[in-house]
Amino acid sequence: LVNTSFDRISEVDDQVQAFLTLDEEHARSQAKQLDDAPDASARLFGIPNGIKDNIVTKNLRTTSASQFLKDFDNPLYNAAVIEKLQADKSVTAGKLNMDEFAMGSTTENSSFQVTRNPWNTDYVSGGSSGGSAAAVAAGEIVFSLGSDTGGSVRQPASFCGVVGMKPTYGRVSRFGLIAFASSLDQIGPVTRSVEDNARVLEVIAGQDKMDSTSAAAEVPAYTDALDGNMEGMKIAVPKEYLGEGVAQEVKDAVMNALKVYESLGAEWEEVSLPHSEYAVAAYQMISSGEAFASMGRFDGVRFGKRSDKADNMDDMFTYSRAEGFGDEVKRRIMLGTFALSSGNYEVYYKKAQKVRTLVKQDFDNILRDYDVVIGPTAPAPAFKAGESTDDPMALYMNDMLTVPVNLAGLPGLSLPCGFSGQGLPIGLQIIGKPFAESTVYRTAHAYE
Ligand code: GLN
Repeated sequence: LVNTSFDRISEVDDQVQAFLTLDEEHARSQAKQLDDAPDASARLFGIPNGIKDNIVTKNLRTTSASQFLKDFDNPLYNAAVIEKLQADKSVTAGKLNMDEFAMGSTTENSSFQVTRNPWNTDYVSGGSSGGSAAAVAAGEIVFSLGSDTGGSVRQPASFCGVVGMKPTYGRVSRFGLIAFASSLDQIGPVTRSVEDNARVLEVIAGQDKMDSTSAAAEVPAYTDALDGNMEGMKIAVPKEYLGEGVAQEVKDAVMNALKVYESLGAEWEEVSLPHSEYAVAAYQMISSGEAFASMGRFDGVRFGKRSDKADNMDDMFTYSRAEGFGDEVKRRIMLGTFALSSGNYEVYYKKAQKVRTLVKQDFDNILRDYDVVIGPTAPAPAFKAGESTDDPMALYMNDMLTVPVNLAGLPGLSLPCGFSGQGLPIGLQIIGKPFAESTVYRTAHAYE
């Protein structure tokens, strides 16, 4: 499998541009060692994976797609999820492209390359975990890990026609994930099938003493939930998720999926999430405020880049940051600084936190009466590369169906539910109660 993976990578990655770093020699020798010592108890024995480049891998270059970290060749430790994958004997083929520090929706904010959509390379892969979705869709690896702060696993999964899960906040340890916005970030798997996805989450989930926000909740065998049973299942469909701003072909694909659920014995009803229209604004304030704090450590002293233009300490901070960060990262830092400055804090940041509570209450109210919430993952299929880069506001709005889930801390999964007229995949989003990933997987699997 590992050899096949590298064959495929050399065949297609010139066009797809999913990988930033390959670990070929090491991966092949690991695979050889595994061949010599079969282990039926290892849940991912010999399965090749790819890892988003904001997840720290010991001795393997980790850049977060930033010039700031372009020479971070020898991290000293593994993220908790990497330790878990290794314990279950999965083999890492390499590190995957993304928007710089996970800020973006297309991978066009990567400081290295733009990952292309394997279904049509004129189109973007989505983002920020675009490399993670494209590499799986192109058959370069069996599964990948991405991170999702406002949709970055689900939206690229939707654009590339694969399955992407953002687990409940706290389900997976964030130790070794380079932070974007710590109250929203979660690591999640990208796979071709729901079953594979459930299996990978089983391996990476669980409490970790290195991440105090990881939850003590027990990790169920998610794969046991895949029984196809939808009898009596209650599905809520928010009218805001099929309203203005959502493409007709996306609405049609979701309606068709709902018919499939009806035929399987589930019931669905229209509901309302009245505060979802404010979610993107609240998300931008909160995530940028946290990003401003997360980015503070990149100062030219401790990690990565240090400008050689400077001859005093203040200039060292200034030039290192000016040279090391791309435009979008600077935009978020400025927005976060603005939102948290005295005078603005009450007006913007605190208000955004109140909206966050309201968004969460909307979901709590609905999930008391329904098992899952279903809608589209993104308002439209993938767009052409280069088409959206001048208009950050339009891109932020593209996240309107995914960010509410992060604000509320809930599990959300995207799975393919059809194609647009141009042959690009459309994603169905399934949102569950906190720590009810099993129900989300059961629902996804029944459709698949
Ligand atoms: N597209 C969103 C943003 O730019 C989400 C990013 C993410 O989930 N990491 O903030």
